[in-house]
Amino acid sequence: MYIIFRCRKCGRYLYAKAGSKTKTCTCGYRNYLRRVITIKKVEDERTAGEVVRFMQSYKNTDFKSLG
Ligand SMILES: [Zn+2]
Repeated sequence: MYIIFRCRKCGRYLYAKAGSKTKTCTCGYRNYLRRVITIKKVEDERTAGEVVRFMQSYKNTDFKSLG
């Protein structure tokens, strides 16, 4: 199981294996997984990577225009 969440500092979408303690973002910030807001849980790393890529591109759109 993998969890998808956002970096608490820069807002990038990240994923980490469920059960790990921390995940360091590419911005250098170490996210403590107990303190992040889980957006989604997926079964495997491949899916996690796909979801992150999707969310990352989705982020560039204007959320307000979506509804
Ligand atoms: Zn970050």
